[in-house]
Amino acid sequence: MKPVNFAYEKPRHLDDALRLLGNGSQAKVLAGGQSLGPMLNMRLVQPDLIVDITALDALKHCEKQQDFLVLGACITHADIEDGRVPDVTNGAMAAVACGIAYRAVRNRGTIGGSLTNADPSADWISALAALGADAIVRGKDTRTIPVESYVTGALETSLGENELLEAIRVPAHSKKARWGYYKVCRKTGEYAHAIGAVLLDRARNVFRAVIGATERKPLVLADAKPLFQGSDDLRKFDPTAADAMLASIGMDDPLDRKIHTVALARAVQQASA
Ligand SMILES: Cc1cc2nc3c(=O)[nH]c(=O)nc-3n(C[C@H](O)[C@H](O)[C@H](O)COP(=O)(O)OP(=O)(O)OC[C@H]3O[C@@H](n4cnc5c(N)ncnc54)[C@H](O)[C@@H]3O)c2cc1C
Repeated sequence: MKPVNFAYEKPRHLDDALRLLGNGSQAKVLAGGQSLGPMLNMRLVQPDLIVDITALDALKHCEKQQDFLVLGACITHADIEDGRVPDVTNGAMAAVACGIAYRAVRNRGTIGGSLTNADPSADWISALAALGADAIVRGKDTRTIPVESYVTGALETSLGENELLEAIRVPAHSKKARWGYYKVCRKTGEYAHAIGAVLLDRARNVFRAVIGATERKPLVLADAKPLFQGSDDLRKFDPTAADAMLASIGMDDPLDRKIHTVALARAVQQASA
């Protein structure tokens, strides 16, 4: 199948992109095109205007601030994998990036496109939620929203029609931070069937856990202690607590709950090593 006819614009300035999005047409933003391309071809989306944001330098900018790294939305998975952008996560983000799809997809696919596409099985929506990252959204005003609130459901975000995801703000880990991320998939680089992630950073009083690829938005625990018998001791991981949480969000299949619980257990194992 071929896409419907659409107009195409490639603005050079963020304000021009926002003006195009706000002109009342059925506009769609194009970043790496790795998800949007197939959606256009299958006519799952039928925009009358495509706004290509890949010439916007502001969205490729990254800046290390004292406690954060701000990554422009058009930074690619490969930029992160290859270390072309600074890292504040002791390598956690590079390890996630290199497990996404295969190299050709990583060369073009962007962190902002992945987050905004909000596929429940995708990596960044779970990993960035576990890292405690924020989405920086530009429209009339600038909004900074925790990733777990930016993603509101399967393929849904809180982005307004006239808004763009401008950047992602990732908190810096302390040197002793413990991180684990485990993705269950049949072949390396595939979309996940289950994701587990955990971050324990006592110096910052952070203990977060995420169970992802649940057919809905990731299950995010900003305080992971209930999964660890009320403690911040990684050795006390309680799979029955994870199982009960998954049942409470409607995951009825015991095998599915088991796979997700094992993904989290393996992430915990990594973080403990
Ligand atoms: C074969 C294949 C395998 C894949 N495997 C994986 C995998 O294992 N794990 C994984 O996580 N992903 C996987 N992906 C998806 C890949 O990571 C894509 O890069 C990603 O989903 C979309 O990023 P993109 O930059 O290509 O965005 P696009 O396809 O250009 O856009 C996706 C959506 O986001 C919107 N959008 C993009 N950027 C912005 C922005 N800055 N502001 C507002 N809206 C925006 C678009 O309008 C569109 O709705 C795979 C893709 C393919 C083709």
